Amino acid sequence: MPGSDVEARRAAIDAIPVRPASAAAPALAFPWPEPHRAAMFLSFDVDAESAWTGGNPAHADRLVTMSYGGYEARVGTPKLLELLDRLGLTATFFITGWTVDAYPAMAESILEAGHEIGHHGYHHLLPDPGSPFIVEEVERGLDALKRRLGVVPKGYRAPSGEFCEELRALLVRHGFLYSSSFRDDVRPYRHVLADGAAGTIELPVTASYDDWVLGLSTRVSPRPILSREQVLSIWTDELDEIRDWGAMVTTVLHPQCSGRPMRMRLLREFLLYAQGCGDVWIATGAEIAGRFARFEASGPR
Ligand SMILES: [Zn+2]
Repeated sequence: MPGSDVEARRAAIDAIPVRPASAAAPALAFPWPEPHRAAMFLSFDVDAESAWTGGNPAHADRLVTMSYGGYEARVGTPKLLELLDRLGLTATFFITGWTVDAYPAMAESILEAGHEIGHHGYHHLLPDPGSPFIVEEVERGLDALKRRLGVVPKGYRAPSGEFCEELRALLVRHGFLYSSSFRDDVRPYRHVLADGAAGTIELPVTASYDDWVLGLSTRVSPRPILSREQVLSIWTDELDEIRDWGAMVTTVLHPQCSGRPMRMRLLREFLLYAQGCGDVWIATGAEIAGRFARFEASGPR
């Protein structure tokens, strides 16, 4: 390594702050609505083709790669809406602005079925620190949701699972109630901005409930698809332990994955299991964050 590279690396290392990355207070202890002792934030990310073009715009001309996203409007989303209707469940769908503009009828069908619509960027661009697109992604996404659906979203989920301080402050300026992107808790908590001001509420996620990593295999990321038995054991083990802890789980499900036949069969089985527990509050992000906010406002106990 040339001397100047070593110097640059040294300067970058010396700039790492020696303190926790999050200044958030410990998660507030408050009860779930009776008779529940745990919660499930049932959420879906509707990316369509923007899941592929967000990381690499050249995929727009790769028609088989794009067809993974195209499955959502043609099959995956209608089938998931049918399933939720049959089970009497209401969920949150985080939708990219691109998807709302490209597939307005699909987006309207989600809204008309009574589900919550959340913000998921416009082109599904990774909100990496220093990205020149952070403000534009949030504002164009807001515009698409308002223009096409008349929705002002309460919730935000970061595309591709990254976040930065600029985005954290931006969400507060735009009046978001909650984010659902971080991995550092099993209960809702309140973000703290770099200047000490209050941020949004966080509804944390975990890789255990991200169907993308459990069941999506493509030419650009080939990997084994996990079986029903493997996924169900991950999902039920996590849920059962969380029930003992009195905490919450968050699903991160994609119609281009969980809308596939065997994936939907296993999702149906898991949701029936969760409903059968009798003590899991299966709710939208707005419901869970709203409950947190009410307990937070009621002061220290
Ligand atoms: Zn996504």
